[in-house]
Amino acid sequence: MPVSDFSFTFLGTGTSAGVPVITCDCDVCTSEDPKDTRLRCSVCVRFTDGGGQERVVLIDTSPDLRQQVLKEKLTRCDAILYTHNHVDHTFGLDDIRMFNVSMQQPIDIYAERHTLDHLHRVFQHVFESHKNVNNSFVANLIPNEIAPENPVELHGVKFTPLRLLHGRLPIVGFKIEGSGPKGRVPKIAYCTDVSSIPPQTWSQLEDLDILVLDMLRFRHHPTHLNYDQAIEIATQIGAKKTYFTHMTHCVAHSETDAKLPKTMHLASDGLRI
Ligand SMILES: [Zn+2]
Ligand SMILES: [Zn+2]
Ligand SMILES: [Zn+2]
Repeated sequence: MPVSDFSFTFLGTGTSAGVPVITCDCDVCTSEDPKDTRLRCSVCVRFTDGGGQERVVLIDTSPDLRQQVLKEKLTRCDAILYTHNHVDHTFGLDDIRMFNVSMQQPIDIYAERHTLDHLHRVFQHVFESHKNVNNSFVANLIPNEIAPENPVELHGVKFTPLRLLHGRLPIVGFKIEGSGPKGRVPKIAYCTDVSSIPPQTWSQLEDLDILVLDMLRFRHHPTHLNYDQAIEIATQIGAKKTYFTHMTHCVAHSETDAKLPKTMHLASDGLRI
């Protein structure tokens, strides 16, 4: 039985500070449009595997994870894939322990060595729980190291890490595709926190149904794509549809979305594709 009921949901589409920004009273931070509220960046991939079991895979664990899980009513977490080590993509990991309780099993996490080392350092109470003074309730995780272009197959869906550059920091995006019959799982590339795409990754971005790409703001930034750069790269990649994410409070949703080329949109929290 192939994978069915596939969906890809934006749990958060904001930059590291989130929107509204603490103490800010700009037009976007005080906007009444719900699409101008952005939690920190992460997504979840949901599907039913060949055996009829529902599966949930998270990409990154933002500091807003608890709120995001409650909002989406997620009842399980089968695996977590990490793009990189930054605080806005990792600090929600602690809350994963509730899924250990409900599922009664450890959870696999997948990241590059650099990110695994960071997680180990920050969450010492989780990864070296034997050193805790009291016998504390912490997450039960199984670390798995990944490398660009070596796919991870999870319950019938293939996740291929793609090398991206986040300023000078090499990080990964993920290409998501099914191993079942064509059409059941769209071919998606999730590329957040990127300022340039290295030559070896371009061939992995052909024939995409959906591209998700970083688009921080209008002004230039050393470690993220801005509006003009994101549109230019999305045009070159030429996916059937592109969604932009990781936006600051400089980006007003409806006004900006209306100006984008026909195949491109701004993502928003809770958007499911
Ligand atoms: Zn603001
Ligand atoms: Zn980052
Ligand atoms: Zn980020």
